[in-house]
Order: sequence, then C-alpha cells, then structure tokens
Amino acid sequence: MISLKAIEKVYRTDTIETVALNNINININKGEFVSIMGPSGCGKSTLLNIMGLLDIPSRGEVQIDGKPVVSFKDAELAELRNRKLGFIFQSYHLINDLNVLDNTELPLIYRKISGAERKRRAMEALTKVGLSARAKHYPGQLSGGQRQRVAIARAIVGQPEIILADEPTGNLDSVMGNEIMKILNTLTQDDKVTIVMVTHDEQIARQTSRLIRLYDGSLVN
Ligand code: ADP
Ligand code: ADP
Repeated sequence: MISLKAIEKVYRTDTIETVALNNINININKGEFVSIMGPSGCGKSTLLNIMGLLDIPSRGEVQIDGKPVVSFKDAELAELRNRKLGFIFQSYHLINDLNVLDNTELPLIYRKISGAERKRRAMEALTKVGLSARAKHYPGQLSGGQRQRVAIARAIVGQPEIILADEPTGNLDSVMGNEIMKILNTLTQDDKVTIVMVTHDEQIARQTSRLIRLYDGSLVN
C-alpha cells in the first residue's frame, strides 16, 4: 500500500544541514495499524508528512500501491490526497463556528456530492464514532475525547484507505485515549483502513499491530 525506499530527508539552511531521515525502508500493508515512536526531533513528523504526501524526500522513492509518487501529475496527486488519505491531529483542527455535522462533511464539499448525501454520509461517520446524538452541538460544547471523535469522523467520511494520525491521543487522558484507540482499531479491522500513527505513549503504541521505532532519523530494530 505505502512503500518507502531508501528515503532520506535533509533540511538545509545557509550554514546548517540537518539529516531528519536516513535510509528509511518501510512497507506498510492494507489494514495494518502502525505506530511510530521515538524521542522528540527523531524525525517522526517528517516521516508522517512524507507518507501523507505533504512533504517530499530529498532522496529515495515513495510508492502508493506500487506506483512511484513522482510519476503522478499534480492533479492526480491532489486527487490521491483528497480521496485516499485522511488526517487526524493532536489538536483536532475543528472549525469552532460549524456544528459537529458540518465539520464532519467538510472533506466532501469539494466533491460533486449533493448536500443531502453529504449529511447522510456525515451522520453515518458520526454513528461509527458514537457521536450521532451530538450532531447539532458545536466543538466548544464537547470534551476533548468527543472532539477527537469528530475529527475521526471527518477523517473517515470520504472513506480513505489510509489514515495518518499525529499524536491523536496526545491531549487526552488515558481513558479517552483508549476509547480513541478502540475506534481506530475497529476501522482497521472492519473496514481494512490502514493507519499510521505517531505517538510518544508506549501504552498507546502497544494497542497497534506494528511498532516502528525511530532514533535520530534512522529505524531502530
Ligand atoms: P519529531 O516529529 O520526531 O519531533 P521532526 O520530524 O519534526 O521530529 O524533525 C526531525 C529533525 O528535523 C529535527 O532535528 C528538526 O529540528 C529538523 N527539522 C524539522 N523540520 C525542519 C525544517 N523545516 N527546517 C529545518 N530543520 C527541520
Ligand atoms: P498538532 O499540533 O495537532 O499535532 P500540527 O499543527 O503540529 O498539529 O500539524 C502536524 C503536521 O500536519 C504539520 O507538519 C502540518 O504541516 C500538517 N498539517 C497541519 N494542518 C494540516 C491540514 N489541515 N491538512 C494537512 N496537513 C496539515
């Protein structure tokens, strides 16, 4: 599904060169739930951004379903990001003036889908995360765990094949964090969604099917 081949990422300024990733080789298969762990500055976000096609490596090749990402035209790349990928962040990134239902349907706005159909799919996604009863609430009226569940509903509403999550439980206590992990695990098991998640938390990482450790830009094994 996602293959990284000999990925290197170097950040250069006038005087400093930082090797953020060094010779990274990873194959991620459909339906895997992968966590990426490692100390601050080891390259986790850079790796996640490269997998999410938000950043490009300095060297090496990223493949999606066996096709090198460099071979995609800009329009295909935009389509790929929009249709195949869903994103979840530590700080939820919900829009406070939109209610839960309207937040959830956002990824569908740019597709040619009628308003009624968007609402139907958004309700379906909210039902999956157990929040259909809160559809008319605003983010400010929800707990952190509930906000993250809305963010998950928004990430899955377009039925992506891959979800990239950057510290999705980072702002939550362990009870709410475990609830989020349960929902993510259900997505990988029932819908065969592939999830790649960055976390600092060993107890959270243990609930995934595969753990990748990074240290100073390299894979540890
Ligand atoms: P992590 O997510 O594990 O904390 P990052 O991927 O954010 O690590 O960063 C990896 C390394 O690359 C760090 O040394 C960081 O300082 C450096 N880095 C990240 N982004 C940039 C940038 N835009 N310019 C220069 N250096 C960067
Ligand atoms: P958080 O603090 O919630 O983890 P950040 O704002 O640090 O989230 O974002 C994490 C990474 O995701 C950053 O590298 C950023 O470039 C990227 N990012 C942030 N917002 C979006 C977005 N709406 N869509 C795609 N990528 C995003």
